[in-house]
Amino acid sequence: MVQLWPEDRREAVCAWLRANGIDPDNVPQDADLYLEPAPEGDPYTGRYLHYEVFHLNSDGRRHVDERGLSAARERRMTPLLVEPPDWWEPYRKPTRDQLLDVLAKVQALHRCNEHTGDCEHCSQRDYPDYSVPWPCPTMRALGVEVQP
Ligand SMILES: [Zn+2]
Repeated sequence: MVQLWPEDRREAVCAWLRANGIDPDNVPQDADLYLEPAPEGDPYTGRYLHYEVFHLNSDGRRHVDERGLSAARERRMTPLLVEPPDWWEPYRKPTRDQLLDVLAKVQALHRCNEHTGDCEHCSQRDYPDYSVPWPCPTMRALGVEVQP
């Protein structure tokens, strides 16, 4: 397999986007970029290239999103005309719900033991010789509200 430098990879992805009718200059670097089959009932039966672009105002300029924090984006999709490079990997940011789900799993794992006042998960190994007082470093690192 040919070893490509990151800038060569970026250039190859840009060329691939152009070949699919997408202006890479308008695609954020961390944009979602993935392929999916056409939904059932769609007259087009191939795969769609899903991507994000900066949302442009009527003057053709980027503008900030509703929170005023970053550039506004919009999701688009187009029929896949040209296959991606064979080393290309799809990218899809996790959703807020997926991140909250992971957080809930971690919170369920790390709980205060009502008798010892230690984190049940972190103190589990070598109990009673090893105790990790509540809130444990994991919960402190998450900065989550914790019950005493
Ligand atoms: Zn813990």
